[in-house]
Amino acid sequence: MGNRIPVHLNGAFLYDIVMEMTFNGLEQELRQLNLKGRRVCIVTDSNVAPLYLKEVEAIVAACCRETVPFIFPAGEENKNLDTVRGLYETLINKKFDRHDYLLALGGGVVGDLCGFAAATYLRGISFVQVPTTLLSQVDSSIGGKTGVDFDAYKNMVGAFHMPKLVYTNISALKTLSEEQFSSGMGEVIKHGLIRDAVYYEWLIKHIPAIKKRELVILEEMVRVSNQIKRDVVEKDPTEQGERALLNLGHTLGHAIEKLSDFKLLHGHCVGLGCISAMAISMKRGLIPEHELSRLWEIMKQFDMPVTVSGLSAGEIIDLTRNDKKMDSGTIRFILLEQIGKAYVDKTVTEAEMSEGLLPILA
Ligand code: NAD
Repeated sequence: MGNRIPVHLNGAFLYDIVMEMTFNGLEQELRQLNLKGRRVCIVTDSNVAPLYLKEVEAIVAACCRETVPFIFPAGEENKNLDTVRGLYETLINKKFDRHDYLLALGGGVVGDLCGFAAATYLRGISFVQVPTTLLSQVDSSIGGKTGVDFDAYKNMVGAFHMPKLVYTNISALKTLSEEQFSSGMGEVIKHGLIRDAVYYEWLIKHIPAIKKRELVILEEMVRVSNQIKRDVVEKDPTEQGERALLNLGHTLGHAIEKLSDFKLLHGHCVGLGCISAMAISMKRGLIPEHELSRLWEIMKQFDMPVTVSGLSAGEIIDLTRNDKKMDSGTIRFILLEQIGKAYVDKTVTEAEMSEGLLPILA
């Protein structure tokens, strides 16, 4: 079925990613998980709760013994161990046991935090992802990476823990702010760049429809992005090799995100990092110059920032050196061999990074 993408590990079925236009189909999917007699804690944030909690809770309640909502204040600053502690307390008070479930209803912050709590509560319980932002629908809900931030360190504490189901309601993207939608486009464009030149061209052709959030076009976009991410994580579930390609734009992007004090959104920083990675690839003679101007133009059309002010190449590179993607003192950089084909390179010099940053430093 076109709206169902199965995810496997070593050839064995793990879970389905299901894409629908409403939440209605969630009931049938949950029934397959046999939640009769189980409790389900619906973890969500203060922005998503007023929009979707009531509807989703009614659907979940029809399939299980008891639902327990856990709502925390929205924002990356709450993706931390204090919030996890509050969630553990709720689970303990409500006597959740090893057979009960968590359900993440929200963006990547909710999904990462809920997944981490599921990975660690009673040494691991089951959870379901119901992603509601573009970034979480195309990226963070798939692949089982969970975690929280610790002090200033992003995603410092975490675990790999696979969901039992990812249920995506494409229509939820209609209520997303322009800024959050364009941030998600950073990861979408990245998928085209690393794995699929045809998809990259398709995205360019459909810019107006995507920006208007035409549901049929969004469904196609989320589906292809999911397939790309699924294909990569199936081959390399714990990031020993190919999965690193998903980090295109992240090496310098993470540093920019941190230096902006997380005021710049994740997907926007990934986009800026993609420009730099492409600029380095261009300097190496791998990518023609017009592709760099084209990426710049596409990002502008998607209302993504193409420059960042107030930062120097020196401070971005310094922070990159400390990034956890450092591998025995070497920075693992993702470069482009061509549009649709990325590779890991450990030879990028600081001089090349400086040059790569030139197009984005205002
Ligand atoms: P987010 O979860 O903070 O959501 C962004 C904002 O949109 C929030 O204010 C949220 O309340 C609101 N929102 C969510 N759904 C909405 C909807 N349908 N309508 C209106 N508002 C809605 O941010 P995000 O961009 O989804 O996720 C970012 C997080 O994802 C970061 O913490 C990042 O580290 C993580 N991430 C994880 C992975 C992974 O593989 N686990 C991959 C990429 C990013």
